[in-house]
Amino acid sequence: MYTPEEIYGEDDHPDWGLRALIAALVLVLAAGAAFAGWWFWMHRDVRVYMNGVAVDVTYHSTFDEVCAAAGVQPEAGDLYSINGNLIQDGGGEPYVVTLNGVELDKAARGSCKVEGDELLVVRNGGDVTEDSEVVERVVPPLLVPADSLRAVTFVSQWGRNGISRVRVGAVSGEEILEEVVQEPQNCILDSVNPVPSDGRKLVCITFDDGPSSYTADILKILSEKGAHATFFALGSGVASWPETTAAIEAQGSEVMSHTMNHLNHYATTSEETYQETAEAFETMRDYAGVYTSVIRPPYGNWNEYCWRSSGGTMSASVIWNIDSLDWELPGADAIVENCTTDVENGDIILMHDGGGDRSQDVEALPRIIDELHKQGFELVTLSELMDSDYRIPDEVARQYAPMPEDCAWPTEVAE
Ligand SMILES: [Zn+2]
Repeated sequence: MYTPEEIYGEDDHPDWGLRALIAALVLVLAAGAAFAGWWFWMHRDVRVYMNGVAVDVTYHSTFDEVCAAAGVQPEAGDLYSINGNLIQDGGGEPYVVTLNGVELDKAARGSCKVEGDELLVVRNGGDVTEDSEVVERVVPPLLVPADSLRAVTFVSQWGRNGISRVRVGAVSGEEILEEVVQEPQNCILDSVNPVPSDGRKLVCITFDDGPSSYTADILKILSEKGAHATFFALGSGVASWPETTAAIEAQGSEVMSHTMNHLNHYATTSEETYQETAEAFETMRDYAGVYTSVIRPPYGNWNEYCWRSSGGTMSASVIWNIDSLDWELPGADAIVENCTTDVENGDIILMHDGGGDRSQDVEALPRIIDELHKQGFELVTLSELMDSDYRIPDEVARQYAPMPEDCAWPTEVAE
């Protein structure tokens, strides 16, 4: 029999190598077990509380992961306009998160890792209404047209601005009326066929499109017959015939405006309509010393929108009841007939002293005046005729009555 020492020898006992191998194996297994233990420990479930409800999540879960596990979707509020319209989704108050009663800012929420037993509370943001301020606004008057169109349309009441307090949304620009401090006073137009209120029998002959070379002859006839008339002169004509224009007023007749260049104002811009009106008044004043705020619109075309464009320069617009049809050149007899048949008290007769051959008008005029006198009419200016009708305000009946300075001209027509 051999002893182990005899078989293996003293120095290289096989037992030592085996032991080292086993020891290493044990160490590896132990390390593996320790790692596994650590791994499982680090990935264990922990219990936290989200808005008072228990949620089991993995250890070191983030805030977002806890929310997802709890089915909680933190939401900021929305931003609304002063009229309640949504301006920005999520543009209201931010949501607020507390951890164990301490509010977390955004960075702290990002770095939060739960370890168990935390109390998390999420409070959604509230909706917010945009900032606003209250401002005072000037409220312009409206233009109230006349019910129906008659011979003389005039301003029966000038407009005045009102004042309102308005809340304006800082983001949306929306407005809410808070308070009417002062109601605007609307500008009101009336339209009448003048009728003398004092029992007189009056007729007004009007001459359009002048002055011209015929005007002096017409003035002479008027003087001889003791009659007066109204001349609706073109601004361009007044600039060419300033002395003739002044002579009309010297005779006791009057000059009113037929606008500057005889345009059809149903086909002009608002700016052109204003120009044609205002420039004619200025020309009459500057060239002939004539102050007037009354027009006869070319072709009779003048509606509430033309009025709106006139900017407060006008007090009246005048058309006619009787048309001589002189522009057809029908002969003096026909013109006399047209101007003297079925004439009613307060009628306004349309003739022309410019714009073409007016010799038939000159020939017809003495007979027209004689016939109207025979019928008992006085031949007066338009101002005198307007002054005779109590429905037309005194200041409008005067030749010159533009808008008073403390009044305001409307920018819109009333519906
Ligand atoms: Zn004309």
